[in-house]
Amino acid sequence: MSLSTKNKKISENEVIKLIHKYNKKYIIKSFSSFEKFNLKSSLLKNYYHKNILCFGDNIHKIHPLAGQGLNMTIRDINILSELIDNKIYLGLPLDQSLTKEFEKKTKHFNYLYASSIDFIYEFFKLDNKFNNFYSDKIFYFLKKNSSFKKFSTKFADNGFI
Ligand SMILES: Cc1cc2nc3c(=O)[nH]c(=O)nc-3n(C[C@H](O)[C@H](O)[C@H](O)COP(=O)(O)OP(=O)(O)OC[C@H]3O[C@@H](n4cnc5c(N)ncnc54)[C@H](O)[C@@H]3O)c2cc1C
Repeated sequence: MSLSTKNKKISENEVIKLIHKYNKKYIIKSFSSFEKFNLKSSLLKNYYHKNILCFGDNIHKIHPLAGQGLNMTIRDINILSELIDNKIYLGLPLDQSLTKEFEKKTKHFNYLYASSIDFIYEFFKLDNKFNNFYSDKIFYFLKKNSSFKKFSTKFADNGFI
């Protein structure tokens, strides 16, 4: 759940009330304690240190607007898994070179993907100020464009890879 708090503190009780207000589907039996953090995008410069590899949101945190953060990590897992399989297949040791190869194979795509999501977020933020003037026009045009529909579905599912 993401909330615009504008520096105002929101208690756990208020969050629970909001969840009950918008949840029309599930019967919630209990809540465990909440974790909270400020939303901001961040991209790690170095993915590894010696044989320690950073992973998940730690290497690429994006705005939840797109609902793609975990998907990015799943793509990373796929790539890492392929690299491991390849090394095993070739009889090579699973050593530090793996972290380097993983970074080399994923960092530029993650950067491009996260920047695109960030651009979309900033665009809608700005567009909101103009009562969706630009997005209305753009989506009216894109709705009719089947190539764009195909590309956006592929982009959301697969990223740039
Ligand atoms: C509101 C919201 C909606 C989202 N919706 C989607 C969506 O629809 N689809 C999607 O793909 N992604 C979505 N995401 C993104 C997704 O939740 C994250 O990309 C994903 O949870 C990242 O997983 P992670 O394991 O890397 O990090 P986390 O899930 O953040 O897990 C890290 C864990 O490490 C713990 N931790 C941190 N520091 C330490 C420490 N020093 N010692 C011990 N433990 C520590 C934290 O407490 C936490 O439990 C959403 C994110 C938000 C905030």
